[in-house]
Amino acid sequence: MPTSATQLLTPITLLCLCAATRLLAIDSADKRAELPQAQLAKSKVFEGQILPLAEVVKEETAAADDDALKVSRVLKTDDGKVFSLVKDAASRKFFMDERLLRRPMKITAVQIPATQILVVIKAQSVIAGKLHDIDYWCEPCQLGYTEPGICKCCGSPVELRELPVEPQPSTPSR
Ligand SMILES: [Zn+2]
Repeated sequence: MPTSATQLLTPITLLCLCAATRLLAIDSADKRAELPQAQLAKSKVFEGQILPLAEVVKEETAAADDDALKVSRVLKTDDGKVFSLVKDAASRKFFMDERLLRRPMKITAVQIPATQILVVIKAQSVIAGKLHDIDYWCEPCQLGYTEPGICKCCGSPVELRELPVEPQPSTPSR
C-alpha cells in the first residue's frame, strides 16, 4: 500500500510546524519593530470602550449604513472623547470579536498628529478593575494568536483568553 502524505506527517514534523507557527504568532504581535522609535515614544494610554463607529454616530443621527457597523471601530474614552482606530494586526480583534466591544479597555496607542486617529500598540481588558492581557489560545499546541480564527499548527479554532496581568514587583521602600 502506498504511503500517503498525511502518514508522513510524523510528530517531529508537526513539532517543527508548531515551532515555525510560534515564531510567526509572536512576530505578528510585536508592533515595536514596525513603528519608528520617534512615534513609539509618543504612545499614550487611553481608557474607555471600543464601539462600532455607527453606534456612536447613531447617538447623533440615524444616517449610518447598517454595514458601517462592521467596518469601523472607535475608542470612546471615559472622558467622552472619540478616536478612530486604524485596523491592523494589533486592533483587528476588535473588528472580528464582538465579545471585546462595549466594555472597559486600556489601550496603548500612538495618536496620528492633528487627527483623532489611533494606531493601537497594545490592548488590554479591564475586568472587575483588574488589567488583563488578551490573546487567542490553542491549548493543544500552546500557541497564542492576536486574533480569532484557526490555529495555523493544528487547525483547531483558537479560544479567547484574558489573563490577569501580574502586578510588577515593587521596589522595597526604605
Ligand atoms: Zn493548535
